[in-house]
Amino acid sequence: MDEIYSVRMRAAEGGPHEKGGFHISGGETLVLKQSLEEAARQLLKKAISHSRGEADYIQLVVEKIEVKKLVRLTPLSVSTDVVQSVEEGRQQAVIHLRSLGVSESAIRNGLELLLSSTNLRGAAVLSASTGQRLDLYKDRGIRATRMGWDEDRFIQWSAQHPGLGTPRIAEAIALATKVAHAPFMVAELCWSDDPEYITGYIASRKTGYVRITQLKEKGSLCGGRIFYVMDQVDLASLQTYLEEIPVWIG
Ligand code: AMP
Repeated sequence: MDEIYSVRMRAAEGGPHEKGGFHISGGETLVLKQSLEEAARQLLKKAISHSRGEADYIQLVVEKIEVKKLVRLTPLSVSTDVVQSVEEGRQQAVIHLRSLGVSESAIRNGLELLLSSTNLRGAAVLSASTGQRLDLYKDRGIRATRMGWDEDRFIQWSAQHPGLGTPRIAEAIALATKVAHAPFMVAELCWSDDPEYITGYIASRKTGYVRITQLKEKGSLCGGRIFYVMDQVDLASLQTYLEEIPVWIG
């Protein structure tokens, strides 16, 4: 296989995140060397043209990946729950999370956390049984990185999934596929912190990637990701998998 690079971006307004800057946007991908410049350009574009605000701090990190460490995964299957209101959308999310064994209090805590988060740049890790937050990262959360699509496979996949071949959905499916295969993972709940984007999803190996067409009100800055995990989770190995193991989607 050709050389592969990880490209990661994070952008904030009012200085870097760790100095109190407001999170504008982030993104990550894995690409072949020949696509590196284009990937960096796309991520830079995402940082400087975001509806959450005007970034004055942008970090772009490029790292070569050891190909022998690559884990190959097929993308989660995709389905869409078309709903007529945010309430109906959240009810659908509750039904899916319940079916995966996430407790009522964990569901409630997850929804409340996303509703009250306007500056979360990663995911909050919650116990699927107690609903207690397990990571200690507050606004940072844990960010899944080092995952990306095989480009040819993505072109093929897009042709088979009309309307879903956008960069946003590509990124989200790569992320959700990597996350769903994490050790101790039960389910993921997500809606974007982008005020223009109201479709969210729940994902797991069992359900696949289930898009829900309305999970928040247009114009709202709230959003984020919740990773629901089993109680016997080893947080260190979960974090190592999410942040460091390179995953190639194809
Ligand atoms: P986005 O899907 O880019 O609109 O991101 C929505 C929210 O999901 C962000 O505000 C973060 O809280 C969270 N998020 C985005 N990217 C990641 C990631 N790579 N890993 C974990 N959480 C993420």
